[in-house]
Amino acid sequence: MIAPITAASIRPRQRHSIANMPRLKNSLRNIIILEGTLKDPPRKTHDGFSELPRIERDARFIAQHLIMKKILSIISILLLVCIMGSGCNASDSEQPANGAESDAAADGKLKIVSTLYAPYDFARAVTGDRAELTMLLPPAAESHSFEPTPSDIIAIQNCDVFIYIGGESEEWVERILESVDLSSKQVLSLMDSVSLVEEEIVEGMEEEDEEEEGEAYDEHIWTSPINAGYMTTAICDAVKAADPANAEFYDQNTRAYLEKLTELDAHFRSIVASAARKTIVFGDRFPFRYFADEYGLDYYAAFPGCSTETEASAATVAFLIDKVNDEKIPVIFHIELANEDMANTIAEATGAKPLLLHSCHNITRDEFVGGVTYLDLMSRNLDTLREALM
Ligand SMILES: [Zn+2]
Repeated sequence: MIAPITAASIRPRQRHSIANMPRLKNSLRNIIILEGTLKDPPRKTHDGFSELPRIERDARFIAQHLIMKKILSIISILLLVCIMGSGCNASDSEQPANGAESDAAADGKLKIVSTLYAPYDFARAVTGDRAELTMLLPPAAESHSFEPTPSDIIAIQNCDVFIYIGGESEEWVERILESVDLSSKQVLSLMDSVSLVEEEIVEGMEEEDEEEEGEAYDEHIWTSPINAGYMTTAICDAVKAADPANAEFYDQNTRAYLEKLTELDAHFRSIVASAARKTIVFGDRFPFRYFADEYGLDYYAAFPGCSTETEASAATVAFLIDKVNDEKIPVIFHIELANEDMANTIAEATGAKPLLLHSCHNITRDEFVGGVTYLDLMSRNLDTLREALM
């Protein structure tokens, strides 16, 4: 059932570099500009924004935004210090450290905090209505540049179970684990629950300029439904340890969910088994290493999974266009919440259809409010994959 990960499938990769400062700054700037355009224009009140020419207004708005971010990060650090202090106090007495903890005790529900969408959804499948779930990554937000806010740190401090992936994008978690006493809580690093492979650079993929020492494992473990099963089982164990009274309920839910994952896995296998081709092409980043390994798919993409790059070189785009033309690939993929320009460009040049293969990093606000699940997204992936392998 579960394809073994052989030494041959573990190929060396170039470690992607979050520390590539000019690019990081560039993408931060893009995010800030994007935020600026998404939000209401600056108010025409006492600050006099409305009287400035547009470019100057934008520059001023961005500068204020940057200052606010700086202030927020300083507040985070100060808060962390305060929490450490209150953590010590809490262990000295039985009194809750703050009002939030009193409320938690009052409603009696297990409090689970997850970093990303996929573990949040797996925890939801395990606990049903018997836990209060928090996803730290805001819906629609970019996951790789996420940094916790002060209230996120409080949520972690006040939860019963803290679930994170444990990859490079979550280095901030290590800082929290070093500074906040979570010894009374269940803390679960999901990368410990599956077999890991390194992110790889395939032909035509753009590498980051800066290489870091050492090797990093690909953190997108949840893209394989088989891994999703291991992750859910690990979550179930942590939840039962925190709330033994409801252990049977959590076990039942987990068994039911694992059956659905097994069905999903069988669907993917049958699609690939009867497919005309085994190659998928992305005009985007590629966070599907575990998925591709699981189902024996070959892939081409502009960037590796966690790349901070968004604009590919002409040579990269040309390589992907040639690949699509040569192999008559019918679909050019992009991932969710991403810039679709490159996929569209390749689609226009080749006649391939641009389609979304959802990597379940995050969902839109509407999807979040609507309670969209990993199984929903993966079911959509079944259809798009079938089309891509025709
Ligand atoms: Zn990622």
